[in-house]
Amino acid sequence: MSNSPVDATQIAPGAGQKAAIIFEARPFAGIEPVKMAGKFTEGVTEILPAGEIIRRCRLVPGFAHEIIGHSENNVAIDLYKIGNGAHPVLFYGFPDPGEAIGATGILALMQALSAPECALRRLDVTWLFVPCLNFDDQPDNGRSLSRVMKTSAQEVDWLVHNPRPETTALLDILKRYRPRFVFPMHDEFHCNEIKPVYFPVSHPVPAWLAENLRRLVVQAGFAIDSSFNHPQMGEGFFIIEEEAGEEFSGCTWSFAQQHGFVFICELFAAPGIPHRNLAATQLAAGLTVMTTLKDLSANRR
Ligand SMILES: [Zn+2]
Repeated sequence: MSNSPVDATQIAPGAGQKAAIIFEARPFAGIEPVKMAGKFTEGVTEILPAGEIIRRCRLVPGFAHEIIGHSENNVAIDLYKIGNGAHPVLFYGFPDPGEAIGATGILALMQALSAPECALRRLDVTWLFVPCLNFDDQPDNGRSLSRVMKTSAQEVDWLVHNPRPETTALLDILKRYRPRFVFPMHDEFHCNEIKPVYFPVSHPVPAWLAENLRRLVVQAGFAIDSSFNHPQMGEGFFIIEEEAGEEFSGCTWSFAQQHGFVFICELFAAPGIPHRNLAATQLAAGLTVMTTLKDLSANRR
């Protein structure tokens, strides 16, 4: 395998503690994230509520299962692991009330990865999934996806200074595994508003990758949020730490970015776009970024 990338962009660590991240344009042989995400989500007819996600994830064969904590209402927080590659990656769903798209994508990806012949199994990766981080704040005790608006006390990702058990469980996983890619599957599914898509990231991504991501979501029928326009990355992108300012020290991603790249794809439920496409688009965006990270794009040795 050639070690010379077609186009690599070295990202220097920032003033704070940030992992060095290198992106590579050379695609991994046999892995086409957009096609794969479409295939994985073929069976999705609707975005599922948290209780149903938890039940179905427990039925997927081939994963090591661990309970990494309990919510304030004593609901177990599940972690699933498959593969034992050199580079851990973490996907987590239901971070906030009603933010449900990601977990349906996680279930589809777990089902795909449970097949040994899945091409993604050839990556030198340890896959980690938390399908439901914040069960307590889901509508109707995890049984429905009724409209819900969150409060700041429910945003467990932002409670590092006053952590809820969900925050502590996530921080423990970040410290224990030091994932190279972290995909907090936040979305705007809950608010029933039509808004354009935006991408919060820990480090700047190269312009070609930003353009690929914009094309991916536009082809799926979404608009890009042009109120964000980063000088290097362009429309729809911003660096989380720069937007959050001093509050960032209270965010779990201030830990995550010390060891890896944090990527978020904020999608919205939009009229005329089937639920399946929501899950497929967010998953495609995440896998696209993940497989351009230099460490992760290589074949298992
Ligand atoms: Zn959120």
